[in-house]
Amino acid sequence: MEKNISEMISDLKTYLEYLKGLGIVSLSSSEIEHDPPRPSRILTLAEVRKELGDCKRCKLHRTRRTIVFGEGNGKAALIFIGEGPGYDEDVQGRPFVGKAGQLLTKIIQSINLSREEVYIANIIKCRPPQNRNPEPDEIQSCHPFLMKQISVIRPKIICALGTFSAQTLLKTDTKITALRGKVYDLDGIKVIPTYHPAFLLRNPERKREVWEDMKKIAELIGSP
Ligand code: SF4
Repeated sequence: MEKNISEMISDLKTYLEYLKGLGIVSLSSSEIEHDPPRPSRILTLAEVRKELGDCKRCKLHRTRRTIVFGEGNGKAALIFIGEGPGYDEDVQGRPFVGKAGQLLTKIIQSINLSREEVYIANIIKCRPPQNRNPEPDEIQSCHPFLMKQISVIRPKIICALGTFSAQTLLKTDTKITALRGKVYDLDGIKVIPTYHPAFLLRNPERKREVWEDMKKIAELIGSP
């Protein structure tokens, strides 16, 4: 009997860790008394957006113009995740619409897909002042919503664009140069890190490596 109880506690701990990873950090008493909530209770991206609301969970809300939630196919097999919105994204409320965004569009097209067929988002949804790097408390506040978007879309592959995206998703501080070129697992979803398009604009000689990563993605999702 004692063994059964310890097993049950262990299962419960594992389940709570799973929910935490999806950004669910509290349960109502009715959810505890009856059936445990299923992670899929958030069924649509619209529901995630509604829950985010006019978010003021971190200090970036003070300087942003718009929340850049993410856009694209809600059933995409492939999600691209960047770092955070820049000036153009903040103005337009859409991810990857500046020069780096135009390059990302070309990268997507290079594997015979369009922006509408994939989903595009960022680790944080509000532009940091002067495009500075996101700070740990900002990532911590925003990350649960990205995880909910991922759990709704359930893609086959996440392409992590740049250091912050790759390090946050893979929970590591390894540099992108060491991370790229390999395939990682995030709860059954393959994660492929590659260079951020903004980095490619400054270092065009690295495009060949991104092309190699795109070929790997195309192979995994069966795109010609
Ligand atoms: S960055 Fe994310 S957590 Fe911070 S205010 Fe914007 S939406 Fe909210």
